[in-house]
Amino acid sequence: MSIEISNITKSFDSFKALNGIDLKINTGELVALLGPSGSGKTTLLRIIAGLETPDAGSIIFDGEDNTGKSTQDRKVGFVFQHYALFRQMTVFENIAFGLKVRPSKFRPSKEAINKKVSELLSLVKMEELAKRYPAQLSGGQRQRIALARALAVEPKVLLLDEPFGALDAKVRKDLRRWLRKLHDEYPITSVFVTHDQEEALDIADRIVIFNQGKIEQIGTPEEVYDNPVNPFVYNFLGNVNLFHGRVHNGKIELGAIKLDVPEYAATSNKNAISYIRPHDIEISLEPHGDGYIAVEIAFIRAVGPIVNLELKRLDGGEFIEAEISKDIYRKLELKENQNVFIRPKDFKVFIPDDYII
Ligand code: ADP
Ligand code: MG
Repeated sequence: MSIEISNITKSFDSFKALNGIDLKINTGELVALLGPSGSGKTTLLRIIAGLETPDAGSIIFDGEDNTGKSTQDRKVGFVFQHYALFRQMTVFENIAFGLKVRPSKFRPSKEAINKKVSELLSLVKMEELAKRYPAQLSGGQRQRIALARALAVEPKVLLLDEPFGALDAKVRKDLRRWLRKLHDEYPITSVFVTHDQEEALDIADRIVIFNQGKIEQIGTPEEVYDNPVNPFVYNFLGNVNLFHGRVHNGKIELGAIKLDVPEYAATSNKNAISYIRPHDIEISLEPHGDGYIAVEIAFIRAVGPIVNLELKRLDGGEFIEAEISKDIYRKLELKENQNVFIRPKDFKVFIPDDYII
C-alpha cells in the first residue's frame, strides 16, 4: 500500500502543528519521521491513521482518497510507546484479540486464529512465552507482542510511534535491528516516528526530517547524513563542529585554513559557518603547508575502537571534537596537553543569512 500525503495542514487553536506536508511513501517502505519533540510527527501519524482530521490536504492510500475515512476502514496497525497490553490476557490471547472481536461474519475460525497467532509468535520469536501474562514479560518482549498484535489483523499500513522510547539503550538497539529484519521478511508499508537520529539512521529506508510542523529534508539515511540541506538537519543528525569564517569567490577562510567551496563561487565577502563532523577531522603532528589549525589536545577518551578527542583551538580557545580510529591514535602516540594540527577532510558551508539558524 502506498501512502500519498498531500499538502496537509493542521492547527490546534492558533498553533500550526503541521504546515503544508507533502510526502509519498512507497509500498513496502519503512519510513522514519524524525524530529525534535513537538515538531508534528505524532500529529501526522494520527492523521494518516484517521485519528485526527486535517484542516486541509489529503491522505491517499493506493490512489484512493482516505481523508474522510474512519480509522477502522483504513486498515492500519499501531504500536505506541506505551501500548498497554491487556493485563488479564495471556500473550496468546492478546495477539488473538483483534481477530476474536470481529463480527462473526468476518471472524476467522478458531483453528485459523490459532494458526495465525502461532505464526506471529514465531515471527516475533516468542513461541515459548505464549502462556505468559504481560506482567511476566520484559519491556522489550511486551513491545514485540504489541507488534504481533498489531500485525494479527493484517493491516496494510503499520504505524509506530516511538515504540522503543521507554526501553533502555541496549534493548532499543536490539529491537530496532530486530524490527528491520522482521520488516524485510514481512514487508508492510511502515511509518516509524522517533526523535532519536541513531534509531532513524539504523532502521529506515528513508528518513523524513521534521522541524516546527514542516519537512526539512527527505532522503535515505546516507543522503541525509552525508548531504544535509541546511544547518538544522546537520545539527540534528549527529555531533558537528562549527567553524566560523568568511566566504569569498569560492573560498572559505577558517582561521589559518583556506578551502575551496565551489558552490559559493559567486559569493563575495559573506560570513559563513562551516560544519565538520568529528570523524572528518584529520590530525597530524606537523603542519604541512599553511592549511592547518593548531590545537591542544584537552582530553582523550580511548575506550573502544574509536578514540574521541577534545581539542582546544590555539587561535581562539574554542573546543573541537574529533574522532579517530585506535590505529591512527596509536600510530601518532597522542597524549593530553600535546599540540597538534587539524584539517577538515570533509565539510559543508552554510551562509547564516540564507537560513534561520
Ligand atoms: P511530536 O510527535 O513531533 O513530538 P506532536 O505532533 O505530538 O509532536 O505535536 C506537535 C505540536 O502540536 C506540539 O506543540 C503539541 O503541543 C501540539 N498538539 C498536539 N496535539 C494537540 C492537541 N490535541 N491539542 C493541542 N495541541 C496539540
Ligand atoms: Mg510524538
